[in-house]
Amino acid sequence: MMSDDLDIKKRVMLIQRAFGSVLFDRDGVNVAIGCVNKDCSSFGKPAKKKLTLRVDNEFYHCWVCGLRGKGLAYFFRKYKPNFSTPAAAIFEKKIDEIKEEVQLVQLPEEFTLLARLGKNADPDLRACKNYLYNRGLVQRDLWYFKIGAVTSGRYRRRVIIPSFDGEGMLNYYTARAIDGEVNRKYLNPKVRRADVIFNDINIDWSQELTLVEGPFDLIKSNENTTCLLGSTLSLQHELFKKIVKNKTPVILALDPDAIKKTHEIAATLARFDICVKILKFDNFSDVGEMPKGYFPQLLPHAEEWSEMARLRSLIGTIRSGSLI
Ligand SMILES: [Zn+2]
Repeated sequence: MMSDDLDIKKRVMLIQRAFGSVLFDRDGVNVAIGCVNKDCSSFGKPAKKKLTLRVDNEFYHCWVCGLRGKGLAYFFRKYKPNFSTPAAAIFEKKIDEIKEEVQLVQLPEEFTLLARLGKNADPDLRACKNYLYNRGLVQRDLWYFKIGAVTSGRYRRRVIIPSFDGEGMLNYYTARAIDGEVNRKYLNPKVRRADVIFNDINIDWSQELTLVEGPFDLIKSNENTTCLLGSTLSLQHELFKKIVKNKTPVILALDPDAIKKTHEIAATLARFDICVKILKFDNFSDVGEMPKGYFPQLLPHAEEWSEMARLRSLIGTIRSGSLI
């Protein structure tokens, strides 16, 4: 952070020169301008200055569309290239230090909440809702997870489960086909999965956290649950970092066929002094298959993980393997 007020002033003046009218916060380091993202609903509306640039630590964030990142030299190069030379000279974060800007996730256009459907709703939307009811969901689940669908385009006849980060911004979604005969069962936004904490908005990090594989497992799980969007979890994952930071105890409830990965994840978490339990459920191939309300009853049967438990499981695999 800079000590010199003069430098702060120079930075603010450059932003004014480049973007015209700006709004100042009382603290003198937050400067708000019109959003630079063409897809933002505040774009091109002079009265709406929703994009805040922090001139000291160089964070920027639009409160409407969620555009954000760090490094104002980078920001200028991308959005005001005419001013990129003076910007590179007075902002500290060098452009090559900047990691790729946080990518924006936006729901497919015309996203409609399925909880809100009227009786005469579009047949595809109704089919999506019925699909969820057939999987054992109830109206409350549709509201709680804000599940939606669209009537046209590549997302038609898919149920879309959005995910929100800790600040309530959309950070991911998964769109699952409701028909069997499609090429791709799931469509997901192109963001790095390791950066996403699915359902972060609903997570209480001070309580035991259940980890399942996918969003459809999550909606059958207990409330304090996130999903891995796969079956791996490593030190590079934001989820891993947040668990360690909060010392959050974890229950692993991955699919039974991922038992080896389950033990790997447990061992890694245990190295960071995280309490880990494993929940086994051999009667189902995943949590998503269970009837609603079944999983929370299983939860008390989760067993504490230890290196010994892992060895025992390994021996079990060898035995059953040698029988065949
Ligand atoms: Zn915006």
